[in-house]
Amino acid sequence: MKKASDTLKKLNRSVVPAAKWLPHESVPWVIAGPCSAESLKQMLATAKGLVKSPHVKAFRAGTWKPRTRPNTFEGVGAVGLDWLQAVKDETGLLTTTEVANTEHVELCLKSGVDILWIGARTTVSPFSVQEIANALRGVDIPVLVKNPINADLGLWLGAIERLFDAGIRKLAAIHRGFSTYVETEFRNQPNWQIPIELKRRLPSLPLICDPSHIAGNRPLIEPVSQMALDLGIRGLIIESHIHPEEALSDAKQQVTPKELCRLAARLKARDTALTDRELKGHIARLRAEISQVDSKIIEDLAERMKWVEEIGRLKQEHNIPVLQITRWENLLGDHLDKAVKAGLDPEFVKTVFEIIHAQAIKRQL
Ligand code: PEP
Ligand code: MN
Repeated sequence: MKKASDTLKKLNRSVVPAAKWLPHESVPWVIAGPCSAESLKQMLATAKGLVKSPHVKAFRAGTWKPRTRPNTFEGVGAVGLDWLQAVKDETGLLTTTEVANTEHVELCLKSGVDILWIGARTTVSPFSVQEIANALRGVDIPVLVKNPINADLGLWLGAIERLFDAGIRKLAAIHRGFSTYVETEFRNQPNWQIPIELKRRLPSLPLICDPSHIAGNRPLIEPVSQMALDLGIRGLIIESHIHPEEALSDAKQQVTPKELCRLAARLKARDTALTDRELKGHIARLRAEISQVDSKIIEDLAERMKWVEEIGRLKQEHNIPVLQITRWENLLGDHLDKAVKAGLDPEFVKTVFEIIHAQAIKRQL
């Protein structure tokens, strides 16, 4: 049995740089196009708008769509591959689509799709990933691996390793965020520490950010893209539709080609001297940790309020006053002791808990 760490070392040594299979002059380099292929007209109109940006180097469109619920649009199927070919003929952009099984792989190879991607719902399944890897044995094609839906670095690494073991050397990882049960501003939580850890383990593996699926809405696409660039990620995959509101899937998160070209031009890539970049990378990593803690604080506050409301119901049922002053005094005293031990300013902690307590009272009224 090979050791997993040996595979990673070998992978890191032999993975092909992105510039070799997706030539680009500037950072960020962008893969753009609709969530789903819908018609030849939609594909061509979108691609002709996108190719105007010097950043856009490849065109994406899902032909088979893994939808959460049945009876929604599940993609146009193989005919979308002909439309991808038409896009390539008209614009010169490289093409990419999602594959989830052997049949998809065979059809894509036959129709000359340039790059394949594995979707988040497939990365979670080692059987499916292995099936795709087997179908690709002996084929020299770039494969992009989206992170699994759940925040599991092992599954992500595992999928990448399976492809590598099948001989694929043009590999990249796509960070598209992770689903959680908590409602946040993001459709999928970025959990930046996971792509950062992937980068630490496989520094040579090209990493691409998918701000569209992280954000789930148009306004957040730009800040998420900039955050990715600030972390040192150089490639982006962004959804774009000629008429976003009419899109058959992911309508809320697609931008027009014009908007995408402008957005790409506004992004600031961090490409200064190495030492400087290292420093900035370090700062960005620390910021990611801080954002992570902040998200946790928000989740914890939400959970605290949930318990508070439950207590509130109980107090009401038993006719007990909402404000229990001794409990509040004891709680504050305990928290201040803990704060001092943790090296925090007790005045600061007192202010924070006074606000939390006031909100808790409000929730029980
Ligand atoms: C997509 O790219 O449209 C898609 C289905 O993405 P994911 O697999 O990340 O959900
Ligand atoms: Mn999509």
